[in-house]
Amino acid sequence: MTSSNVKPGAAAAKVAAASKPAEQPKPEKAETPTPAAAAGYNPGSDSTPNLSKKAQEAGVVMLDWTGERCLCGCRGEATGRFQPGHDAKMKGKLMRAHIAGVQIRVIDGEKSVTAPAVNVAGILSTPKYDWRAAIEEGAEAAKKRAEVAAAKKRATAERRELARTEKPSGKVTLADLTAATEQVAKTA
Ligand SMILES: [Zn+2]
Repeated sequence: MTSSNVKPGAAAAKVAAASKPAEQPKPEKAETPTPAAAAGYNPGSDSTPNLSKKAQEAGVVMLDWTGERCLCGCRGEATGRFQPGHDAKMKGKLMRAHIAGVQIRVIDGEKSVTAPAVNVAGILSTPKYDWRAAIEEGAEAAKKRAEVAAAKKRATAERRELARTEKPSGKVTLADLTAATEQVAKTA
């Protein structure tokens, strides 16, 4: 006779209760990404090819991880996490999505989780390489480059506008420069 006084079946019931699938946690913020949020970015182009159209309509990047394939979503076989070179592809995808404010939907069979790109980057981070920091820094740098490009464009537009509106109406002669220089000399 054992000292256990657990009724037969009680343990099994306990296990059954424990293994009951936990309720799907509701997303804390219902941040529904809208296609408008993408603003010129097509999440379909960064999605698993056969999900491209769906992804574009939903306004999220859709990556199919079903069956432990390459995590970039290409559906290629990978012995590690990525096919050679596809970690760089994944970085590009996450960065573009992050910049556009578009979320990533990772699909595994029947299940899917939709999360910000930085969260996906976070779970890919290793002690050797901080994916999340790389995505955030890369996006920041891209934003700065875009700002510089926009400023340049504005400056060019202003110059063109000036050239268009300021038609030389009179002759400019050496005398003008002499007068201006004398004025400077006097005031100095
Ligand atoms: Zn891949």
